[in-house]
Amino acid sequence: MSTHDPDCIFCKIIAGQIPSKRVYEDEDLLVFHDIHPWAPVHFLMVPKTHIASMAQLTPEHERLMGRMMVLAPKLALEQGCNPYPDGGFRMVCNTGTEGGQEVRHLHVHIMGGPRPWLRG
Ligand code: 5GP
Ligand code: ZN
Repeated sequence: MSTHDPDCIFCKIIAGQIPSKRVYEDEDLLVFHDIHPWAPVHFLMVPKTHIASMAQLTPEHERLMGRMMVLAPKLALEQGCNPYPDGGFRMVCNTGTEGGQEVRHLHVHIMGGPRPWLRG
């Protein structure tokens, strides 16, 4: 079942209440550019349903998380990451306060492009 948290910034982006530079969208996922990129390419993949973090995942989410993993390399190339092995990309999924998570809606960072990067 799809859930929406009215106080969540990424739920607002999904609902179109906050603008974003969208990269990809389907029934389950939204992908958009990070507002403060650390790398020449930096976008975020989020499930459309509100899941606070990876700590809330259950076996019913296996397909959703698997889809993100399989979609990431395709979108990374489309967004300008250079091909593997000299190029590539980094995937980061911060979880919880000690994990460095600021936005409490599960998201995967995908970063790439020529170095040096601002962070990471
Ligand atoms: P976290 O630290 O939670 O892993 O990362 C949250 C990310 O969301 C940060 O990299 C931040 O720049 C990005 N972000 C926060 N608010 C917005 C927003 O309103 N729009 C977009 N596009 N990105 C955002
Ligand atoms: Zn949310």
